[in-house]
Amino acid sequence: MSFQQLEQQGTQHKAIKILKHALQSGRISHAYLFSGPTGTGRMAVANAFAKALFCMDEGWDACGVCRECRKFEHGNQTDLIAISPDGQSIKIDQIRELQKSLSYRSTQTGRLVYIIDHVETMTIQAANSLLKFLEEPQSPIVAILITDNGQAVLPTIRSRAQWIPFLPMSPEQMLMKLTEEGASPLLARSAVQISSGLSGAREILQQNEFAEIRSLVIQLGKESLTRFTAAMITAQQQVFKTELSKQINMLLSLLSLWFKDFTQVLAGRRDKLVFIDQLDWISSHAYNRSFAGWVACMEHILEAGKRMRANVPPQLAFEQLLVNLQEG
Ligand SMILES: [Zn+2]
Repeated sequence: MSFQQLEQQGTQHKAIKILKHALQSGRISHAYLFSGPTGTGRMAVANAFAKALFCMDEGWDACGVCRECRKFEHGNQTDLIAISPDGQSIKIDQIRELQKSLSYRSTQTGRLVYIIDHVETMTIQAANSLLKFLEEPQSPIVAILITDNGQAVLPTIRSRAQWIPFLPMSPEQMLMKLTEEGASPLLARSAVQISSGLSGAREILQQNEFAEIRSLVIQLGKESLTRFTAAMITAQQQVFKTELSKQINMLLSLLSLWFKDFTQVLAGRRDKLVFIDQLDWISSHAYNRSFAGWVACMEHILEAGKRMRANVPPQLAFEQLLVNLQEG
């Protein structure tokens, strides 16, 4: 994708503005630190920037038609190197390997670009090794370092890189944008609440099962409050015997939003409901429990998620959750 396409999607105006300015003025830094939550389009912007750097056209954006742009689009841009963690961290061997390939590579485009994802996972040795060639004065090399948390990156690296902020959009802004793009307003309303950014929400909306999971959450949410046995059967038959069992985390996140909606009614914020199509049902049941009672339901859900991550069989943890939800 080009910057122009990203801008049309409403992706990260501020980040794109800084990079555009660098391209226009020809003052390209040795290193850029892309800092912001997952799902905010960091990799898409990194690729657009790299593509523009390689582009043979004069303008600030990739032209999309020159030889280098075509190579990039086909994944054949040999002057681009991408690195991501090997297991839990980025290891010194990976950085040595990078250093080697950068020094032996004869560039086709007059530039070499490398992208390191999850740069905060670099071991100290890897970071020190990277430092040695991060700022070689005459080099045509540009580093794009991507992280969830720029503050977690070693200060010595941080200070050598230009900081590019990736800001999460508010759920309301994301909802507006996604609806403009043609997403179902009801589905988008849920998706923006469980993703940390616009591209994350888009990915969720592209999953075929998302609508199904949302309907199932409504069913389970109602049954868990009024028909315990039915809720157990629904969980067994429609979640754990199907492919949806793989989406249990998403299901839990949505279920938590379901209970949050009851607190919104009690707080007089009906317009904030996520499951706005269930306004009547939620309103008529909201006063069955106290505010604290609904918050307790959300805590039970968090607890169930924790137990699943601690390797309790998901079905067992979920059935325990249904018991807890019924009891309040
Ligand atoms: Zn081009």
